Amino acid sequence: MGRRYRIESHTPRTPGNAPAPSSSPRTARPPAPARVLRSLRLWFDSAAAAPANDADADRVDWLRVLPFVLLHLGCAGVIWVGVSPVALLVAGALYALRMFAITGFYHRYFSHRSFRTSRGLQFVFALIGAASVQRGPLWWAAHHRHHHRYADQAQDPHSPRHGFWRSHMGWFMTPRAFATDLSRVQDLARYPELRWLDRYDVAVPLAMAIALYATGALLQHLWPALDTSGAQLLVWGFFISTVVLFHATVTINSLSHRFGSRRFETADDSRNNFLLALLTFGEGWHNNHHFYSSSARQGFRWWEVDLTWYGLRLLALLGLVRDLKPVPAWVLERREH
Ligand SMILES: [Zn+2]
Ligand SMILES: [Zn+2]
Repeated sequence: MGRRYRIESHTPRTPGNAPAPSSSPRTARPPAPARVLRSLRLWFDSAAAAPANDADADRVDWLRVLPFVLLHLGCAGVIWVGVSPVALLVAGALYALRMFAITGFYHRYFSHRSFRTSRGLQFVFALIGAASVQRGPLWWAAHHRHHHRYADQAQDPHSPRHGFWRSHMGWFMTPRAFATDLSRVQDLARYPELRWLDRYDVAVPLAMAIALYATGALLQHLWPALDTSGAQLLVWGFFISTVVLFHATVTINSLSHRFGSRRFETADDSRNNFLLALLTFGEGWHNNHHFYSSSARQGFRWWEVDLTWYGLRLLALLGLVRDLKPVPAWVLERREH
């Protein structure tokens, strides 16, 4: 078992295309009990990730990602719990709030530093982002910076050039993707609260799941006319909302580098895609973003709907964020090809 990808070595090559002398050779697989224990520890403690250079580095670690599989299976609970207006409302609100945290903060703030905010709000949105089950903010930003550096090259872990499955979700299910490369996020790693959250990110969605169950049970007790329950809010607010949120987010890796239009001749395959921009609150203007990645705004034209940008403008009006980096005039005036 364990699907294995054919991928190029990530070690640097000498001009003669021979492995660089400094490259570390792949090591043999660790013994099975050690692998099982490490996978189980990784459920709770992301610091247990070893440098992925062994023979399993590109093989899906099904034991490690079992909680992620169960997250999907949990959606089937809808057969038993049914639906109610309040369950739909909670699922939609949690989708919107967490999508904004992912796009506005995990992406535009932590990965690209496209605006400034207080240390307190930085942590609040890091927590909401962690509730999305997309790992911690340092992990997310480190991998995303790596993506921009090597977009659609061999070293890009989620380029669609490696195939749809791998770009959509397969890449982060392998040990090569488990660790956080702190050298890429030194600016963020100086905050101990962010390092803690990055290590124990799973605590946040677990707490959210418990809170949803408790809220649903309380509503059922206090307000039976709402026709909801603990299990119903858990299935809709946690399982379904999180799975939809997850797959919407990763379309930017799997689909936004394949389908859409290209305004700018970037070195990668990024596209602008209106539908994906709606779904992901503005991230679908991905060709714009790869051309000029440091602005807080990704829809460069007035009609390029960018809900995250509008949300950030609102937070700026409220004085919660500041110094939103604009799209420079030379980018806006650039003639479309
Ligand atoms: Zn991209
Ligand atoms: Zn980016």
